[in-house]
Amino acid sequence: MFIFGPVPSRRLGRSIGINNIPPKICTYSCIYCQVGRSTKMFSDRKDFKNTDAIIKELYTKLEKLDKKNEKIDYLTLVSDGEPTLDKNLCKLIKELKKTGIKTALISNSTLLTRKDVIEDILLVDWLSLKVDTINEKLWTKIDRPLKTLILEDILDSVKDISNLHNGITVSETMLVKDLNDRSSDLKDTADFLSECDFETSYISVPTRPPAEKWCLPPEESNINMAYHIFKNHLENVELNISYEGNDFSSTGDVEKDLLSITKVHPMKEEAIMEYLRKNNMTEKNLERIIKTGLLKKTCFNNENFYIFSNKKL
Ligand code: SF4
Repeated sequence: MFIFGPVPSRRLGRSIGINNIPPKICTYSCIYCQVGRSTKMFSDRKDFKNTDAIIKELYTKLEKLDKKNEKIDYLTLVSDGEPTLDKNLCKLIKELKKTGIKTALISNSTLLTRKDVIEDILLVDWLSLKVDTINEKLWTKIDRPLKTLILEDILDSVKDISNLHNGITVSETMLVKDLNDRSSDLKDTADFLSECDFETSYISVPTRPPAEKWCLPPEESNINMAYHIFKNHLENVELNISYEGNDFSSTGDVEKDLLSITKVHPMKEEAIMEYLRKNNMTEKNLERIIKTGLLKKTCFNNENFYIFSNKKL
């Protein structure tokens, strides 16, 4: 299950997700991570021996979508881990580009200090780089990085790549209540971003169940303050905090597709219900999947979500 979606994306329209990393392998273990705590953390790139299988699965998916006349805006490398840890990323991106569909990659920026990673990510059409804070203490608390990572080096690389990348390069800053949502820290982050060359700087907040239950979105007044501080420093700022919609679809194997989506993208209850309705399924089918132990219901911010459960992995 390397391919999921199409899923609605607030920034990329209808996107097919490509999950090129085995579950929960990352250089960070962010408190807000929607796939839970990282179980393996390292910064060496590895050959996960999955490129051919990914491409095969992608073409099967694209054929099915073509038959249904479904349009795709982006093929997005967004893993339940850090996609640049894949040693075969270059080969994979080149294969994705052969489809003629635009490519996107969402990275936590930690490996941009490596020349081989830079060469790979410059290939995509749309690149999102994470900059949650420039304060080392907050960085350690929020992103919980590998001990070998150096924030200053990462930030220098982010600045360089934002200038080097020929496609669309955006930044993403995830705000967490009582951590990086104070005005002084927001000013520092915005100041740093203003030295980079991002087309748009997005402000996000946790909207799906996070790795740590105590990790919450900031108060609305602080989100507004963050927006205005960023706006004072940067030309294009957008809040990426609204609901992306329920337009999830399946291309045949409804249950398998549902599990692939929830592996990377926890779904709101209303989205799951609409997905079931669209695919002539009932809540009984959902109960059956839950009984297998691969899907579980959870509550975050007073809303019910369904998330993949890797109890069986
Ligand atoms: S949110 Fe992204 S960077 Fe953070 S732990 Fe999860 S996969 Fe890694």
